[in-house]
Amino acid sequence: MNRTSIVLLLLVIPIVSLALDDGPRPGYRDTPIIPGQKWKVHDSERPYPVVVDPGAGIFSTARPDDAVVLLDASADLSAWSSGGKEARWGVVDGTMEARPGSGDISTRDSFGDIQLHIEFRTPPEVKGDSQGRGNSGVFLMERYEIQVLDSYQNPTYPDGQCAAFYGQWPPLVNACRGPGQWQSYDIIFKAPRFSADGSLLAAARATVIHNGVMVHHDREFLGPTSHRRKPSYSKHAPLGKIKLQDHGNPIRYRNIWLRNLPDETESDSR
Ligand code: MG
Repeated sequence: MNRTSIVLLLLVIPIVSLALDDGPRPGYRDTPIIPGQKWKVHDSERPYPVVVDPGAGIFSTARPDDAVVLLDASADLSAWSSGGKEARWGVVDGTMEARPGSGDISTRDSFGDIQLHIEFRTPPEVKGDSQGRGNSGVFLMERYEIQVLDSYQNPTYPDGQCAAFYGQWPPLVNACRGPGQWQSYDIIFKAPRFSADGSLLAAARATVIHNGVMVHHDREFLGPTSHRRKPSYSKHAPLGKIKLQDHGNPIRYRNIWLRNLPDETESDSR
């Protein structure tokens, strides 16, 4: 190889690698730094969590006898409401389906520290990309979102992918199953504690197991979920509803139950 060929090759290699790149990554660079982290909110440069195949789903309708059932195989939506009225989501094949445009739904009852089991399925027909594909969310106390998204071969900003504490923490790994496959979250959630003057005594925390794979361990929420902004706490009631998000995609849910957990906080202000 002569000198000219080598020079040409050196010029061509970066062009080819640019062409192989997927282009700009979804996300933002004009957002504030997340408190205590080196990344910005929805940072497009944040590394993608490693993909882990969780294996085939093993589902059981068995549940502990102290469980509060929020949705079982009868797909009775009476535990849920749309702003205090009958839940506007649909029932399909014994599951509950978000009807795009119908709005979020919430439990009629309110909860504090809980162990929550919930199963979901993003649409088998893949439409859209990034945040537009299979988006929903499990909002604890209607404030703290564990993201639901089709994150199977669907790049998005890591703090917004499936199982993220949206806008705060990506999951430790990406343990998603593919579109149309049932997936599970097991979430152990501790509600935040506030003092009488409204200051934060203890942040909300959660452990999340996605399809049997631990993706957050006793992780602190930095505040209620927000989009493009720094999260920050303000005092709220000690109990809150669980909200499921209508983000315009027909996500299905089934087999939802929780256990109320005993209060282990020594300086409990509730
Ligand atoms: Mg969401």
